[in-house]
Amino acid sequence: MELTKDALMPLIERAYDRAVSIRNDLHMHPELSEEEVRTSQVIADTLRALGIETRENIAGHGVIGTIYGRDRTRAVGIRADIDALPITEELASPICSLNPGVMHACGHDMHTAILLGTAMVLNEIRDELPLSVRLIFQPAEETTGGALPMIQEGILNDIQVDRVIGLHVEPRHETGVVEFIPGVMNAAITDFDITVNGKSCHGAHPDKGIDPIPCACDMVLSYQTILTRRLDPASGALITTGSFHSGTANNVISDKAELIGTIRTLETEDMELIKREFPAMIDSIAKAYGCTADIKLRDSYPNLKCDTDLLDILIKTCEGLLGKEKVVINPVSSLGGDDFSYFCHHARGCYYNLGCHRPGDEKVYSLHSSVFDPDEKCMLTGILTEVMSAIELMNN
Ligand SMILES: [Zn+2]
Ligand SMILES: [Zn+2]
Repeated sequence: MELTKDALMPLIERAYDRAVSIRNDLHMHPELSEEEVRTSQVIADTLRALGIETRENIAGHGVIGTIYGRDRTRAVGIRADIDALPITEELASPICSLNPGVMHACGHDMHTAILLGTAMVLNEIRDELPLSVRLIFQPAEETTGGALPMIQEGILNDIQVDRVIGLHVEPRHETGVVEFIPGVMNAAITDFDITVNGKSCHGAHPDKGIDPIPCACDMVLSYQTILTRRLDPASGALITTGSFHSGTANNVISDKAELIGTIRTLETEDMELIKREFPAMIDSIAKAYGCTADIKLRDSYPNLKCDTDLLDILIKTCEGLLGKEKVVINPVSSLGGDDFSYFCHHARGCYYNLGCHRPGDEKVYSLHSSVFDPDEKCMLTGILTEVMSAIELMNN
């Protein structure tokens, strides 16, 4: 069989129908990050039923499958994330979540079903594939990140996986559209916890204690100046204070204030600079108020930059499949994060956005919304682009 879109379309359409019912089932049974027990079972059962070599319980509930092509030592990797969010679904739909307080509001049910559909197609044509395929179903994207621990368990090494692709649904674009972001796609992330220690006393006698609240307020305002005065103004970076807690009563000076937040930068060097300046500034402000501060910085995901050669190949492939007008090249980076970035740092990676807005639908919703309502038809574009991109990479 020729490995062209026309020749493969009947297989892709059949896989799409099955992917839709798998997605409906996953959507009704969402599971939180690190708790993806049933989801990984569905994935493993589906792969095994296809006769695909499958390994489970990698870095928690991660699953991998391997489709062997002619070269059994090298593989192209395709990644899907599988976890859901602590959100109560507010859509009245026949596939509404049956798990109260948990919802697939980031489309990971679709990513999973699309990759299973892709697996069905590639498995049928495995004898004609020059290389093998490593299917990567990754847990915990929304919290601690399953990508790095899976990589550390060797999933890119037992068979040589030097290129990994993946996709994310995107409601800013209509079904049938894909979007590529050259340059930095997502930010590097470091989260912080700060405890400002003062000394409690009666609210009528602040001179008898040390009030941590003005000190913490000063910190919240001052650390923004690292961004505006220390970084190149053209660089993309932010510090968000997500929570500020202190005190229990109207007439008591609290003994401490707690701040938590997130630092995000597009470039790694900017993050390094902030990680030096931020604790130094917190310490000096604490001292100025007679307080002390405990600071914890926790590195989260690194920035996500697609490999330029892979970008070229995928963009050309998608333009050929969908038409040039359906392939958006967006130069604007996002300060969101995605742990697909680890695949770009440990191998060469290419990530793209899959439009999922129902054409003509006037409803506006975003990822992580309780009324997130993506068009299931985007999964056909998802399977088509994953299958053909994998084949194209094997030929390169
Ligand atoms: Zn998400
Ligand atoms: Zn997501």
